[in-house]
Amino acid sequence: MPRIVYVNGRYLPYAEAGVHVEDRGFQFADSVYEVCEVKGGALIDTTRHLARLARSLSELKIAVPMAERALRHVLSEVVRRNRVRNGIVYLQVTRGQAARDFLFPGPDTEPTLVALARSIDPAKVAAKAKQGISIRSVPDQRWGRCDLKTVMLLPAALAKEVARTAGAQEAWFVDEAGFVTEGASSNAWIVRADGFVLTRPLDSRLLGGVTRATALEVLKAQGVPVEQRSFTIAEAQAAKEAFVTSASATVMPVVRIDGRAVADGKPGPVTLRLREKFHDLAEITPV
Ligand code: PMP
Repeated sequence: MPRIVYVNGRYLPYAEAGVHVEDRGFQFADSVYEVCEVKGGALIDTTRHLARLARSLSELKIAVPMAERALRHVLSEVVRRNRVRNGIVYLQVTRGQAARDFLFPGPDTEPTLVALARSIDPAKVAAKAKQGISIRSVPDQRWGRCDLKTVMLLPAALAKEVARTAGAQEAWFVDEAGFVTEGASSNAWIVRADGFVLTRPLDSRLLGGVTRATALEVLKAQGVPVEQRSFTIAEAQAAKEAFVTSASATVMPVVRIDGRAVADGKPGPVTLRLREKFHDLAEITPV
């Protein structure tokens, strides 16, 4: 077990080391890391690891937590303080601590930097190498399980940033076939010219929204025809209405998609009626 962990400028005892619950690494997987080998008390391939770290940070627009020289010092110091001769040193940088919001926090947010070192018995590794290992093949589903409400939210946070840059408030993901899967943090809906409300059927590419389920019940009660069918951006732009659903926004009208107005560019009547009546059928638990 590591004895000392580096956290944001301090070397802390293992049991006392921690980051804030609203750290973006914890809430959004908005974070990058490196693992370097430690062999005979020396760091292995540090330059390459730090170059990859710099690239990961730069691509994700996460601030560099400290100069490379200082980072090298922290890595050495963590290895030294934990008396690791053989093992690994682990380094993680997150976008930092901020009130939960998909959008990147302001430029004054300090990235979080954590480093820890751990011993690995070289004799055990050598014995394993002598035997060799076996492999089990698995489908590459990194990350294809969008039906699970995990904190694998870095792609969603990046999508919201793209939307914000374009002056939009939400992003819609589009699959390889050109169909909308869902919003970055909402389910996507349109009202077709013939009055049918369309939303994508549930599969592993989208989250089964609780608001979506309740909205389907409300639409049914209102006698509005619904088809659970995928639609394209072009279909959405040509629709009479569009909207998104989520617990935080309930039913939110969509009036522009990729710069194109939906119908007259105003919230439509089916959307507004659904929004108005949503809580009639939602479960209400007094606290
Ligand atoms: N899809 C995604 C990707 C989401 O993050 C959310 C919001 N949690 C939703 C859909 C809507 O789900 P719900 O109605 O349960 O909030």
